[in-house]
Amino acid sequence: MIPLDHPRYRSLQTREHLADCAREGIVSLEGLTAHGRGEAFDYLLGEKTTDSALCAERTAAALLRAARRPIFSVNGNTAALAAPLIAHLQEVSRLPVEVNLFHRTNERMQKITAHLESHGVQVLTGTAERLLPLSHDRAWCLRKGLYEADTVLVPLEDGNRATALRGMGKQVIAIDLNPLSRTAKAATLTIVDELTRALPHLIEAFSQLSLEECQDLVAHLDNRYFLYSALEEMKRRLDHGLD
Ligand code: ATP
Repeated sequence: MIPLDHPRYRSLQTREHLADCAREGIVSLEGLTAHGRGEAFDYLLGEKTTDSALCAERTAAALLRAARRPIFSVNGNTAALAAPLIAHLQEVSRLPVEVNLFHRTNERMQKITAHLESHGVQVLTGTAERLLPLSHDRAWCLRKGLYEADTVLVPLEDGNRATALRGMGKQVIAIDLNPLSRTAKAATLTIVDELTRALPHLIEAFSQLSLEECQDLVAHLDNRYFLYSALEEMKRRLDHGLD
């Protein structure tokens, strides 16, 4: 039992929740280590949404709104951390949700789908085919989902698949706390923020942005600016961390 007054209560509670999800087979053991990498970068960001991340979140909403066939690609960590937020985003955006896993088994696919559905998410189903140009199991996806999508929202992604999706001509919107990851560099747009902080901003932007604001945000999209801004914030905090 984590004491409510523990200064790292939220972080410890999230870890406990992810460990429970790992025991249930929703999160993979590798997913737990990926979470740890994210936590380290979040510490360097001060565990808050920066102004540039907020701008990236608004730009992501604009890109998704302008997309012809957008899709939200969800893995085990994303489902475990954010199922209610995914349901809320889907409610305001009608974004289709597809489960896509690195460590793919039928059992995990079913468990993650059931977990999302229990929170009100409508998950795309159908017969998966090996359609993405990748050698591992993330190549499996739905023809009417990821394969035909023009814009893909992919939190906590690995660099190979982000690069493969870009190679297929898709716009990739990543949510990744590590601005130096291959994913962050390969994506069309990278939100350098923690997933559960980023999604509420996306939801808000979806409901609030005007058409003109969306066009303006998309016209000025500069992913390197977002990555440099995150690195600058981390450098600033490293320089003054002991003050
Ligand atoms: P790449 O292949 O892109 O260089 P990687 O090998 O780190 O990156 P993964 O192991 O799939 O790829 O890691 C997923 C990424 O997700 C990590 O960069 C990590 O910082 C990030 N991450 C983990 N948890 C969160 C979270 N809750 N919110 C945002 N990002 C996160």
